[in-house]
Amino acid sequence: MERYAMFIDGEFVPAHDASVFPVYDPSTEEIIAEVPAAGSADVDRAVRAARSAFDSGAWPGTTAQERGRLLFRLADSIRQHAASLAQLEARNSGKPVVEAEFDIADTATCFEYYGGLATKILGQVNPVPDDALSLSLSEPIGVVAQIIPWNYPLLMAAWKLAPALAAGCTCVLKPAEQTPLTILELARSFNEIGFPPGAINIVTGLGADAGAPLVAHPEVDKISFTGSNATGKGILKVAADSIRRVTLELGGKSPNIFFADADFEAAVDGALFGVFINQGEVCSAGSRILVQRPIYSKFVEAMTAKAATIRLGPPLSRDTKMGPLVSRRQFERVRAYQELGKQEGKLVLGGGRASGFDRGFYIEPTIFADVSNSARIAQEEIFGPVAAVIPFDDEEDAVHIANDTPFGLAAAVWSRDIYRVFRVLKKIRAGVIWVNHMQPTYVEAPWGGYKQSGIGRELGPRGIEQYLETKQVHINLNEKPLGWY
Ligand code: NAD
Repeated sequence: MERYAMFIDGEFVPAHDASVFPVYDPSTEEIIAEVPAAGSADVDRAVRAARSAFDSGAWPGTTAQERGRLLFRLADSIRQHAASLAQLEARNSGKPVVEAEFDIADTATCFEYYGGLATKILGQVNPVPDDALSLSLSEPIGVVAQIIPWNYPLLMAAWKLAPALAAGCTCVLKPAEQTPLTILELARSFNEIGFPPGAINIVTGLGADAGAPLVAHPEVDKISFTGSNATGKGILKVAADSIRRVTLELGGKSPNIFFADADFEAAVDGALFGVFINQGEVCSAGSRILVQRPIYSKFVEAMTAKAATIRLGPPLSRDTKMGPLVSRRQFERVRAYQELGKQEGKLVLGGGRASGFDRGFYIEPTIFADVSNSARIAQEEIFGPVAAVIPFDDEEDAVHIANDTPFGLAAAVWSRDIYRVFRVLKKIRAGVIWVNHMQPTYVEAPWGGYKQSGIGRELGPRGIEQYLETKQVHINLNEKPLGWY
C-alpha cells in the first residue's frame, strides 16, 4: 500500500492533523493507498499559497511564453510516464487500461493546447466616438478553486489546470476522494518543471471536509466545478454570498437518436459505444436511446445481441472492454436503478451484478426496452452501464422526447438524410451534438451544457475565458480641460 502526501506551496505535506483516507482498487475492493484527508486548515494553507503566488506576481508576472513552455514541459512529462499513469488510472478508477491510455494521451494534448494558447490571449481596441483610445484588457481572474469527479481523473484535472495556468491564474485543485492518485503522481514533476510554489496546489480530501471549505474560502476568486447537480447547486448558493465567479459542468441524460434511414450496423455500434464506454460513467452518456419505430424491434435485438458479448474483466487486462464501477456506493446506486428499471421498462439484457467475479464492483451491461420518457430511469442520471430504449414515430416526436429532460449536455443524431439532420440538431437544446457518432471529445472544441447541465464552457479558446477578467481602459487623447463647470 502506497502512502501519499498532498501538494501545497511546492511541498508534499500531510494533513495538519495527520488524518488520512483509504483509496481502493474497485476490481479487488482492496485498499491500495492512503491519502491525506485535508480539512479547513489545509485548505486555508493551500489557498494562501495560491494567493501569495498570484499577488506577488510569481505566476501571473511570468511571460505568456514562459507559462506556455512550462505547460509543454508538463505535457512531455505526462507522455514520458504515460504507461504507468494509465495503469494507475485504470487500477484506481476501474476503467479498462486501453481506455485509460487514451485519457492520458488526451491529458498531455490538453496541456499542449493551452500551452500554445497562453500567447494568444488578446486584448481589443474599442472604436469609441471620441478623441480617446479605448482598450479591453484580458487579465487572469486570480486564485481559482477547482473541484473534479472520479470518472476521468487526470483528464478532468487537465481540463481545469491547463487553461487556468495558461491564463495566469493560480490553482487549488481538489480531486475526487475516490481517485486522487494520478494527479498526485503527476505533482512529483511540478517543481522540477519550474512551476513556482503556490501556482498549483493539490488538496486531497472528502467533499464535505475539503471541498466545502475550499468553495467558501474568501480568498478564492473563482470556482470551477465538475460533478453532480446536487453538489453544483450547493456550490452556486455558497458562491452567491460573495458573487464569486462560478463555472459548472454537471450531469446529463443525453439522447442518442436513431432514424430508420441510419446505417444500421454503425448505428448499433454507436448506441453501445454511446452508453457503455467507461462503464457508462460518462457525463455525456447516451443513456436514452431513441429509435424510430420501423427499425425499433430489429435494433433492440441487434443491440442486445452485441452488448451480450461485451467482455468484462480486470481493468489492467488489454482484452477488457468494461471494468468495475468506481466504488461500492456507485455500485449500489446503479444496482438500485437496475431494480427500478424492472418495474419501469422491459428488461432485455443484464439487470444485476455481473457473474464470474467473486469480488469487485462489476455490474452487467443492462438494457431496458419500451421505456417511457417520463420513467425515472429515463429522467435521472444513473452514471452506470444502464440504457433506456425509447421508441418514436417521427422527427417532431424525436425532438420532443429528446428535449423533455432537465438536462442539456449532449445529444447524437443518426441519419443519412442531411436535411433532417440539420433540422433536428437545430431544435435540440444541448451543448454538444454529434451526428452519426457519439462521444468523441476534442480539446479544440467547446464543452458544456444547456439547462441544468451547467453554466459556462470548458475547452477550446472559450475554455480560457472562464479564467479571465476583462478590464476596460479609457485613455483620453484630448489635452484641453473639460470646461464643463
Ligand atoms: P459529486 O458532486 O459527488 O463529487 C464531485 C466532486 O465534488 C468531488 O471531488 C467531491 O469530493 C466534491 N464535493 C462533494 N461535496 C462537496 C461540497 N459540499 N462542496 C464542495 N465539493 C464537494 O459527483 P460525483 O458523483 O463524484 O461525479 C459524478 C458526476 O459528475 C455526475 O453527475 C456527472 O455527470 C458529473 N460529470 C460532469 C461532467 C461534465 O463535463 N459535465 C464530466 C464528468 C462528470
